[in-house]
Amino acid sequence: MSILKIAQIGNPVLYQKAEAVDKIRPKDNLKDLIINMSETLIDAEGIGLAAPQVYVSKRIIIFCIPEDELSEEKINKNQEIKIHAIINPSYTNNDNDFEDDWEGCLSIPGMLGKVRRYKKITYRGYDLQGKLINKTVDGMHARIVQHECDHLNGILYLARLADPRDFGFTEEINKYYKVQNEKI
Ligand code: ZN
Repeated sequence: MSILKIAQIGNPVLYQKAEAVDKIRPKDNLKDLIINMSETLIDAEGIGLAAPQVYVSKRIIIFCIPEDELSEEKINKNQEIKIHAIINPSYTNNDNDFEDDWEGCLSIPGMLGKVRRYKKITYRGYDLQGKLINKTVDGMHARIVQHECDHLNGILYLARLADPRDFGFTEEINKYYKVQNEKI
């Protein structure tokens, strides 16, 4: 298994619409890709990663949910972290309630932006066994899924800033706001 290179802002792969996974077949090595993406995510101390960020323009995302299973110590000690993988994810908003919160991105290192997202969404997709996933979530879980699905459509969080001024270096922003530094 290996740690993959993460595409950085400016790289065209981040602005492409990723292709849907046709069928979940063992020969496509999706499992290997997802394992490598998971190792990459843990190594980068992030909480979410989309396949286009590792130069694979396919509709696959992985993430962990900080509230219930991730803590700094766990990342540092490399303890077991539950990573969710969703193939061909999509979501709908349950209402028009928005929430603004700070986000980082592994493709935009060292920066944070305050991003407007739906508070609550229902998402669908498939797991590696081809089983349908259908969940209604809110909070950070909903935010991560929206951020990662944006990557599949070639959209970076910069396009969704609540205010263009709500963006800057993590170090600077942390001086003025209480921010949990989540790299998704
Ligand atoms: Zn990102």
